[in-house]
Amino acid sequence: MIFAASLEPTDQDSPQARPYNRWQRWLGIADFAIGAAFLIVLLITGWSGWLRDLALRRGFQDYALSVFIYLFFVLFIGKALSLGLDYYGFRLERRFQLSTQKLRSWLWDEAKSFLLGLGMAGVVVELLYFMIRQSPQHWWIFTWAIFMGLVILLAQLAPVLLFPIFYKFEPLENDNEDLRRRLVQLSQRAGTRVRGVYRWKLSEKSTKANAALAGLGSTRRIILADTLLDNYDPEEIEAVLAHELGHHVHRHILKSLLVQAGIAFAGFWLANLVLHYAVDHHMFEELSDFADLPLLAITATVLSVLLLPAMNAYSRFNEREADRYAFESISSVAPFISSMNKLAQQNLAERTPSKWIEWLFHSHPAISRRVAAAEAWERAQNSGVPAGKSS
Ligand SMILES: [Zn+2]
Repeated sequence: MIFAASLEPTDQDSPQARPYNRWQRWLGIADFAIGAAFLIVLLITGWSGWLRDLALRRGFQDYALSVFIYLFFVLFIGKALSLGLDYYGFRLERRFQLSTQKLRSWLWDEAKSFLLGLGMAGVVVELLYFMIRQSPQHWWIFTWAIFMGLVILLAQLAPVLLFPIFYKFEPLENDNEDLRRRLVQLSQRAGTRVRGVYRWKLSEKSTKANAALAGLGSTRRIILADTLLDNYDPEEIEAVLAHELGHHVHRHILKSLLVQAGIAFAGFWLANLVLHYAVDHHMFEELSDFADLPLLAITATVLSVLLLPAMNAYSRFNEREADRYAFESISSVAPFISSMNKLAQQNLAERTPSKWIEWLFHSHPAISRRVAAAEAWERAQNSGVPAGKSS
């Protein structure tokens, strides 16, 4: 049978998939709730103003320095509040044997990501209040433009600057001739040249498998986890490569950046409205009072929560497009289907999550849908009827 792969016992969820995903979701929701509650408490108790005064004293009344100290206080307290849950998340991955990381290494990663977050937030927040002081009416347009410049720069630099802070990468070029040949063939068929394929040493920390297209321009590359490269058949790896190449051919990174630019524009416009409202109603004396930062963060949070289902739907649309590209460029969808089943098994994914969970939280279509789409595509090919969209 053509679709034998999906009938094998591997297309059943692991018994651990359901509890694991349920815990993961609750942790995510709890983490979000703590963060949101913290911001609201800062505002309504007036503690934000108290922290601002403390920052001004510690910063010798220097505005820019005080902004940074205030930001440090807020991020530090926020991290302290969520550290317990983060640790629980780490224990959860260990409990389900998805993480091979030692506590020390995890703590070191936590420290690095805190410093990285502080650095990046520092640049954005300094820019924001500098522009507010320069132009209280039009700051949001200028800040949006520079912010998007930074986002694009970061998208370009991330594979060479950010990813290596947490993982090791190696060009795949020499160690796998067969895979290299397959990639060259796929690229030729796509009429494009992929600048690099990298082995991502994920196995140092995790047993999960993953792959991605990352970077912009000269840093654009496909990264494949060693947990995938070492455990999947060449045909299955080719199917994954073809999917990533599909993202590349359909310019998904560029399109996502454009969507983000539109949303950020609306976000900064809304932030300006909210800040002016707060000042008009005497919550703050002026826009540049950086004790209003939690209000900006709440605005951004509300907007992103409201947009989350739409953003996830957009991402799922792109994933389906990349899947269809993969179906067209590989000789049979069977290795695609078996790679999906292996991924589900290895990452403890729920193949068929409930409809509303997929709608709210999933950036990728459910594995069962992706497999069904591949099977439908194959059937349509065999019967000569053009392939319809996945249902
Ligand atoms: Zn994808």
